[in-house]
Amino acid sequence: MLAFRVGSLLSAIPRLHGGLISPHTLPSVNARHVSVRTAMTASDEVVKAQAAALRLLADDDESTIFDRIIAKDIESTVVYEDELCLAFRDVAPQAPTHVLLIPKVRAGLTQIRRATDDHATLLGHMMVQAGSIGVRECPDGFRLVINDGAQGAQSVYHLHIHILGGRQMTWPPG
Ligand code: AMP
Repeated sequence: MLAFRVGSLLSAIPRLHGGLISPHTLPSVNARHVSVRTAMTASDEVVKAQAAALRLLADDDESTIFDRIIAKDIESTVVYEDELCLAFRDVAPQAPTHVLLIPKVRAGLTQIRRATDDHATLLGHMMVQAGSIGVRECPDGFRLVINDGAQGAQSVYHLHIHILGGRQMTWPPG
């Protein structure tokens, strides 16, 4: 893992729309593996810049099993991947379709409660992709869920969106 001071580097990074990077001092850097598999689009340069900027956001929390999935150290069934996020099938599905969408660089997002303006572009991108995956996998409808903390029944502390469908959902949720 690569760790170094980044204050001086921030000025070299262009400010991105959505305010991904603010000029406050960041204590350390975790460089993480990021790969691209999908066809690139017109906004690829922006997405690449966002991924690079996210790697500069501090994240000193313990790694999780999702880091091993991102690194391909353990197997998963990937349904979507781009520069910023990865979607794969949940190993213990709670519905006929159960996909998890995660940021490739956690960037401090162990929980949604830790989201800041710095994460706004990433989170917007993930919501767009969650909708695309949802309609592709479950054209009749689906549910997006983010569990947070103990009472939210969160078990993996790397932000993830559950994409659930393939059956009639009920309300209220359990
Ligand atoms: P949460 O309880 O909201 O933190 O969700 C974590 C999810 O990760 C659960 O639905 C688990 O079934 C899922 N999960 C844990 N390990 C794996 C794995 N190796 N591959 C796929 N999904 C996993």
